[in-house]
Amino acid sequence: MEIAIVGAGAMGCRFGAALQGAGHDVQLVDPWAAHVAAMAEQGGLLVESESGTELVPLTANLPAASTGSPELILIFGKAMQTSSLIRSAQHLVSDQTVVLTLQNGLGNIEAISQVVPVERIVAGVTTLGTELLGPGKIRSLGDGDTHFMQADGHHGTTMQIVLDAFAKAEISVDVSADVQAMIWSKVAFNSVLNTLCTLMFCSVSALPAYPGFWELAGRIIDEISAVGAAENVSVDGEKVRKTIEGATNPEMSGNHFPSMLQDLINSRATEIEHLNGEIVRRGRKHNIPTPTNDVIWHLIGMAEATRSQRISALPH
Ligand code: NAD
Repeated sequence: MEIAIVGAGAMGCRFGAALQGAGHDVQLVDPWAAHVAAMAEQGGLLVESESGTELVPLTANLPAASTGSPELILIFGKAMQTSSLIRSAQHLVSDQTVVLTLQNGLGNIEAISQVVPVERIVAGVTTLGTELLGPGKIRSLGDGDTHFMQADGHHGTTMQIVLDAFAKAEISVDVSADVQAMIWSKVAFNSVLNTLCTLMFCSVSALPAYPGFWELAGRIIDEISAVGAAENVSVDGEKVRKTIEGATNPEMSGNHFPSMLQDLINSRATEIEHLNGEIVRRGRKHNIPTPTNDVIWHLIGMAEATRSQRISALPH
């Protein structure tokens, strides 16, 4: 099957390598020129894992140089890039093309549906973890679960194309009718952990050191559950709290620094507008107060706006 991965950062590269390994004809498409150039120079993507480092012979192109008529496109940039990524790949989209998004945050389906009708979009979540080590090189972090469903709620030919693509891939996938609840639950999880670690400059396992952490986390989650309910999505707050408990347990997570903190440190935009920011906007639409998410949204925005003036020691 001809497949294009549009937005080939850490996760796009990981899924691209797995689908290439399953025998598909995979093209990585990414606007980061140094990343594309590194893969051309080294003859593919370097994938580091527990079993060593492997060179996966993948083709990578800048969006303007990408060609073909893929049956399946995976959009895998950050949520704020989704709209520009799908537009940059519009010339690859035919009447039959199916698009899969496993990105974090709210608004990805809406952005993709500006170019591809919703009945040809499959959406879901993945708990696989991957790091981008530098241009042309990723590190695969163990195993995880991947769930998806056709965005229109049906189980038709659109879904079958995605299932066929993953049939022989080393990434195991699962169809779940509950995928909207999973997307929102992951939004709740990230809206707590990613933001608070970014504001505190600490790992996830450090957060419960503050006795008020669970009360604050509860407020963020409860507001998200209320907004979700107004959109007919049931977010199980207790389940989200349990997942956070697992993730903040030092024996489970070690020193994990969420991608939002990494993005802030590396002077890149964060996904805040598609997490707490989108909850606030949707809350306003439904007349549901979201005061805690509102403050968190502003604080991350302020951290981004002031990062170049951040001090690490007092000036003398
Ligand atoms: P990423 O930051 O690795 O890549 C996203 C884009 O950022 C790429 O298309 C690339 O062009 C650009 N980019 C990255 N580093 C750059 C640099 N140094 N200079 C210039 N451009 C650079 O994103 P990701 O981690 O693959 O995440 C994609 C989506 O998947 C997001 O929605 C994320 O929240 C979600 N997700 C990530 C993980 C993970 O472990 N990485 C796990 C689950 C879900």
